[in-house]
Amino acid sequence: MFNVDNIRKDFPILSRKVNGKPLVYFDNAATSQTPQQVIDVIVDYYSNYNANIHRGVHTLSQEATDKYEQARQKIQAHFNAKHAHEIIFTSGTTHGINLVANGFSSLLTKDDEIIVSALEHHSNIVPWQMLCERTGATLKVIPMNQDGELVISEFDNLLSDKTKLVFVNHISNALGTINPIEYIIKQAHLVGAAVLIDGAQSTPHIKPDVQALGVDFYVASAHKMCGPTGQGMLYGKEEWLKKLPPYQGGGEMIAEVTFEKTTYADLPHKFEAGTPNICGGIAFGAAVDYMNTIGFDNIATYENELLQYATDKLLTIEGLTIYGTSKHKTSVISFNLDGIHPYDVGTILDKLGIAVRTGHHCAQPIMDFYSIPGTVRASFAFYNTKAEIDALVEGVKKAKMMLI
Ligand SMILES: *Cc1c(COP(=O)(O)O)cnc(C)c1O
Repeated sequence: MFNVDNIRKDFPILSRKVNGKPLVYFDNAATSQTPQQVIDVIVDYYSNYNANIHRGVHTLSQEATDKYEQARQKIQAHFNAKHAHEIIFTSGTTHGINLVANGFSSLLTKDDEIIVSALEHHSNIVPWQMLCERTGATLKVIPMNQDGELVISEFDNLLSDKTKLVFVNHISNALGTINPIEYIIKQAHLVGAAVLIDGAQSTPHIKPDVQALGVDFYVASAHKMCGPTGQGMLYGKEEWLKKLPPYQGGGEMIAEVTFEKTTYADLPHKFEAGTPNICGGIAFGAAVDYMNTIGFDNIATYENELLQYATDKLLTIEGLTIYGTSKHKTSVISFNLDGIHPYDVGTILDKLGIAVRTGHHCAQPIMDFYSIPGTVRASFAFYNTKAEIDALVEGVKKAKMMLI
C-alpha cells in the first residue's frame, strides 16, 4: 500500500532543515532525491567490490562486472528493450543525445530535414543545431500553443520524405506537458524517419515500453529517477546502433587495435569507451528497483492528486498565472506573480526552506513564446505531501506581500 509517511523515511535528506525550517523539496524536475536503498548500494560498492570491469580475472573485478551487467539487464527489463545490448550506459540524457546526433553526421546530407519541437530542453536543441551545421541539413520546429501543447497538425505539415530524424521530449521539463509521442513516432515512421525521445522528465513518473512505442532511441538520466548524477541510459534499436559509428574512441570499445586498423567491440561496448561510472550504473539499477517497489501506478495516481491540489490552491492567489495548462501534464507547475521577478519569489521561498527552481529551465524558446524572462517552477515527486504544498502556497502569499 502506498503510504507517503513511510516512503519519506527512505529519504534521509527530507528530514533536514534549511534556514531553520523543515526542507520542502520541490525541485524534483532538476534532480530527484536519493533513497537509503540506493545510498546503501553506493556505499556497498566502494566498501566491498570497487574494481575496474570487463578486464580483470580477479574476484573483485568479476563481482563488479556481474553487478554492472545485472544493472543493464534491470534497465532492459524496465524499459522492455528486446536485448540488453540495446541499453548503452551514458553519463546522462545530454550524453545520449550527443551520441546519437554525432552518429548521424555521416548519415545526413544537405537536403535532409530534422524536426524538433518548440517544447525542448536546450540539450535537445543544441546538438541538433550542431548536427545541421556539420551536414547542411535543415532544422524544423513543431510550434506550441498557449496551453503549452504541441500543434500536432503543424507536425503533420512538416513531415515529408526529406525528414530523416524527429526529436521530441516525452514530457516538457519547463511546463510538464505530456507530448503525444505514440502519434509522433507512428507518423515519422510512415515517412521513414528515425525518432529519438528525450525521456528525462517522463521516466520519473511513468514506465515507458520501448517496444510497444516502436521508438528508435530513448534517453534518460538516473538522477531524475532516484539514482545518482553522472549516469543515464540510451536505448537504441539494435539495427540503428549497428549502423551508427562509435562516438568516442578508447579502451573498452575496441575488438582489436593495430596502427593499421582498429575493429570495434560488439554492442553495447562499442559506445562505452573508457572506464564507465561503474558504481553509477549499479546504483541506477537499484533506483529502478526502488521505484518499481513503490509502483508507477501508485506514483502516477498520487502525483496527479498533488498536482490538482497545488493547482487549485495556487490559483486562489490573485495575480498568479500558471504556464502550461494542458490536460495532459505531470506534476510540474510553472508560474509567475504579476509584476514580480521569479528570482525574487524563489529567494524568499528559500528563506522559508522551500526549494523551487527559477529561471528559463534550459528552455528559453518556451519563455520567449510567453514573452517572460522565466518562471518559478515547483515540481512534485511521490515523496512530497499536501502539507508541503500548503507551505508553498503560504510562502508565495508572503512573497507577494513583501514584493508588491
Ligand atoms: C534534465 C533534462 C535534460 C538533461 O539531462 P542531464 O541529466 O542534465 O543530461 C534533457 N532533457 C530534459 C527534458 C530534461 O529535463
